[in-house]
Amino acid sequence: MPDPESVSVTRLPGVGSQIALRLEKLGIRSIADLLFHLPFRYEDRTRVVPIGAVLPGRKALVEGLIESAEILDRPRRTLILRIADGSGFLNLRFFHFNTAQRSALSSGNTLRFYGEVRSGYHGPEMIHPEYRSVAEGRNTDRDTELTPIYSLTEGIRQPLMRRLINRAVAWWKSAAGVSLPDWLPASISEAMGFPGLEEAVDLLHAPPAAISSEQLSAWTHPAQQRLIFEELIAHYLCLSEARLRGREKKAKVFRKQQSVIEAFLRGLPFQLTSAQGRVIDEIHADLASGHPMMRLVHGDVGSGKTVVAACSALAVLAESWQVAVMAPTELLAEQHFHNFGAWLAPLEFSVGFLSSSQTEKTRRETLQMVRDREIEIIVGTHALFQESVEFSRLGLVVIDEQHRFGVHQRLALRDKGLGQGCFPHQLVMTATPIPRTLAMLRFADLDISVIDELPPGRSPVTTSIIPSTRRGAVIERIAARAAQGRQAYWVCTLIDESEFLQCEAAEKTAEKLAEALPGLRVGLVHGRMTSSEKESVMHSFKEQRVDLLVATTVIEVGVDVPNADLMVIENPERLGLAQLHQLRGRVGRGSGGSFCLLLYQTPLSRQARERLSVLRETNDGFRIAEKDLELRGPGELLGTRQTGQIQFRLADLGRDRPLMEHAVAAAQRIQAEYPNHTEPLIRRWIGDASRYSDV
Ligand code: ADP
Ligand code: MG
Repeated sequence: MPDPESVSVTRLPGVGSQIALRLEKLGIRSIADLLFHLPFRYEDRTRVVPIGAVLPGRKALVEGLIESAEILDRPRRTLILRIADGSGFLNLRFFHFNTAQRSALSSGNTLRFYGEVRSGYHGPEMIHPEYRSVAEGRNTDRDTELTPIYSLTEGIRQPLMRRLINRAVAWWKSAAGVSLPDWLPASISEAMGFPGLEEAVDLLHAPPAAISSEQLSAWTHPAQQRLIFEELIAHYLCLSEARLRGREKKAKVFRKQQSVIEAFLRGLPFQLTSAQGRVIDEIHADLASGHPMMRLVHGDVGSGKTVVAACSALAVLAESWQVAVMAPTELLAEQHFHNFGAWLAPLEFSVGFLSSSQTEKTRRETLQMVRDREIEIIVGTHALFQESVEFSRLGLVVIDEQHRFGVHQRLALRDKGLGQGCFPHQLVMTATPIPRTLAMLRFADLDISVIDELPPGRSPVTTSIIPSTRRGAVIERIAARAAQGRQAYWVCTLIDESEFLQCEAAEKTAEKLAEALPGLRVGLVHGRMTSSEKESVMHSFKEQRVDLLVATTVIEVGVDVPNADLMVIENPERLGLAQLHQLRGRVGRGSGGSFCLLLYQTPLSRQARERLSVLRETNDGFRIAEKDLELRGPGELLGTRQTGQIQFRLADLGRDRPLMEHAVAAAQRIQAEYPNHTEPLIRRWIGDASRYSDV
């Protein structure tokens, strides 16, 4: 029995090697791939709209008699038609037309036009509508069904794609004994109220006119939901299988060494919280398991993830294996270098630092020391990914602020430890609070630990929303706090602008603030400074030689100065809630009360105000994340720029949240009860199953 998944598109009439090559750019190789290339929207050409009833901004199919047709030569050669149907008139403009088209579009003819209506200078108009004669009357535009719109690639336009898909559907329906294998067990599908697979695919390529187009455009039609559900399941299975495969791999066993841990804890100026202790135990259990750890540690800003990483690393260091610690920014890497040094050097472990801005000589020397295991803990930025970094024996990789790194980068570093036939353990730390169901799907390849407790003595940050017209009062407040010996941050945001402009804006702001606050020492840190410049400014700030630190969002993650208890964020309306929450986490680290002033540009939309007030109402990163997800969708939360992020074909993690929990449960059931469905589901939706697993 031919299976559409194993039959090449070239079996379809009219598909030669050239079209096949183009389709391949869309990941379409088999006939099944074509069938699963689903429309991302529909156009309604099933109803002819009276011209008098067309609405600007909407697409419509109209039928009208061409009352006049004239060609203007200026300002640009244009064919202008005026059509009417008794209910009204419409102007049509064509800029490109050949002789044949010119004669089809001559006055006296009655035609159908499809296009977007705009309000023009001389009344409603359409620019370059599609058209066809009424007399033909053939069903070429499938006007009893909604018109599907597909994503395309160079050399394949909408009509060709539609024809190809029609042929695939026809082949599938006519070839004897061909069926699309349905990998969703009927019991699951029925419990969700979904149609069968074939019914769903068939319907989505040619929805009958009677169907609810609201449902279709909201992606809530059961046929769509069924396929989205399947894709979510496939995604979960893919990551989860990668995790299972990881469990079959070998890793060096590192047992917890009580005496070393005790020495470490004695050196700390504080006691670990019980949440920190629990997470450290979970990590130590993984390290001793003999299989590579793949664990994500979640903890709100300031929950103390760094010390958890350092304490976990002890098991590895005590066996004379190496640890790599990676941070997303230079500044943060420097801070980790400093902290790890302060905590671990007294135990006689050597800590090194690697960054792309070091001199060639320093870099070479550092690399040599890593190779010779003279450096046992190496802290750095993405420079740690580079080929030239070789470890003597890498036991543990710690990645801070995971959302900035992609899956691939993570795996690239993991493979650096492969020398000894063992995979290194991996610990990923993030402060991006992700709602549970989303985390289960997004990080199904990782085990998750949560630090759900802040160190004692922290008071929540009081957040106010202030219009930029009250800038003067805000500046006075900084002066008043500074008089009491406290420090403050001033964060300039300029999103979507170049880094250069951001830095320039920060420089100007710093100048103005220095003028307005003559008694204060104003510092500046931004992304275009060299790391030693940044380091020295941060250092001055830490040492209280700077009262007010003006910064771009480079201080977003991890920077720690407990005496700074006031933060002003300019134009907060431009940032996502999760990002603002992270920024705000820089204050509130000391024991006194802390303040965050969101200095917005007036006027502020009602929506933006509603968004910002979430920050005023809560300090709970998880609640903020829920809200962010609701208001902005998951792209913002997970970081759209992240490389290696998995792309969905149909699913949208914000829109489809109601399905998510069911999908995770269904995926787990499939794994347990229908294990042979896993592979085909992954192949159908994600393609080559090895894509995210064994990189
Ligand atoms: P994050 O989770 O945001 O990375 P950090 O690791 O930077 O947090 O810790 C924030 C601050 O809290 C640091 O100054 C750190 O030394 C301190 N800290 C960590 N754990 C505790 C604790 N149990 N008690 C008191 N202070 C702590
Ligand atoms: Mg941190």
